[in-house]
Amino acid sequence: MALKIYNSLSNKLEEFVPNKEKEVNMYVCGPTVYNYIHIGNARPVIFYDMLRRYLEFLGYKVNYASNITDVDDKIINKAIDSNKTEAEVAKFFEDAYWDSVEKVGSRKPDMIPHATDYINEMISFINELIEKGYAYSVDGDVFFRVSKIADYGCLSNQVSEDLESGARIQVNSKKESPLDFALWKKTDKGIKWDSPFGSGRPGWHTECVVMNHKLFGTALDIHGGGMDLKFPHHENEIAQFEALYKTHLAKYWIHVGRLDLEGEKMSKSLGNVIYVKNLNNTTDGMVIRALILFAPYRSIISYSEELKNQYQKEYEKWQRAYKQALYTLQYEGLLTDKLDESDINEFKTQMDDDFNVQNVLTLINTIIKSMNTTLRAKDYNTLAIKTNTFKTIMDVLGINLFVEKMSDENLDNYKKWQEARSNKDFETADIYRNKLVEAGIL
Ligand SMILES: [Zn+2]
Repeated sequence: MALKIYNSLSNKLEEFVPNKEKEVNMYVCGPTVYNYIHIGNARPVIFYDMLRRYLEFLGYKVNYASNITDVDDKIINKAIDSNKTEAEVAKFFEDAYWDSVEKVGSRKPDMIPHATDYINEMISFINELIEKGYAYSVDGDVFFRVSKIADYGCLSNQVSEDLESGARIQVNSKKESPLDFALWKKTDKGIKWDSPFGSGRPGWHTECVVMNHKLFGTALDIHGGGMDLKFPHHENEIAQFEALYKTHLAKYWIHVGRLDLEGEKMSKSLGNVIYVKNLNNTTDGMVIRALILFAPYRSIISYSEELKNQYQKEYEKWQRAYKQALYTLQYEGLLTDKLDESDINEFKTQMDDDFNVQNVLTLINTIIKSMNTTLRAKDYNTLAIKTNTFKTIMDVLGINLFVEKMSDENLDNYKKWQEARSNKDFETADIYRNKLVEAGIL
């Protein structure tokens, strides 16, 4: 079996073969840090973290980069409104972003490039595009000449003519063609940098492509992001990269679907936003993680309280079963690191099939059932293997159940409780039972 991924560039399911054997370079477009993230923004944060964990589970070394866009009109406006510098605004919301990332159980990427650290590289990149005829500067702005790229539209599957008619609404008289996009923006307010084209700031599409090339050269395996970034952001990244390096930016493009709130797009102006920072606690973060992970990743999720409650119940069921099994096995001294090979093979088969998470969910619940059955039947050897298999799969998915082995003190009380029960000394049993309840064990 080999991992198959749906490649947005070819619109086909393709076998995953990275440039280097056993090593994967992955870049995912990160946030523009001017606000808190909502649970819809958290979807790619969760999905690509899971993808990274799964690739690691398969034995790959994963070099995972995700950028921080720390210069943008929205940041500039926020800075002006709040009487702060752009750097202060960006730092504040970046810190808040990492808190949210942690809350939904995702690890930080290995590389976190910040746009403002690459301004010189961006200026040289734009210069080279101008020299080679792929870009032109008009009155302090620099635009990319889309007509020079024959396969423009290859990712979003659109031909230039269609795109042009769609783009006509935003006619910019400075541009040669409505499809041309800004590489450098002349700015009259907020932070700006000097450049041969005049003072201003880089465009977002240029930021990502330059950081990509700096970090990975032409060896990027996976480029990811939300479905809404396909056009124009990713299309424009591809065009710029192709212009200078004569190759497509990434071998595989993976796009994650949106998360709507009861069928409506989450937006601040509609007032229907659920911020990750407002989730009650880490358990809530995990419930959201499960809800997101067990939806087919390319489809739209329609979030509702009902759906959340459903996953809350699932999560509590897993937690209960795992807790009982773990404590019993610890008490019996039968914990193992053996795995049920057939369950693990089934897990891989489903994950390798472009992440067939619904079948993974079925598998998890089948394992839970057999954990409960073997516990009741006191078949502790099987229980031990099933429990370790369950935990291994949950770790790959990054779903933390927040259940640890008992401390020595708790284990001691647990033993005394069991002993008293088997001696039918209910009074003593109650004393230890209470202690265990107090410690959150029972
Ligand atoms: Zn990007």
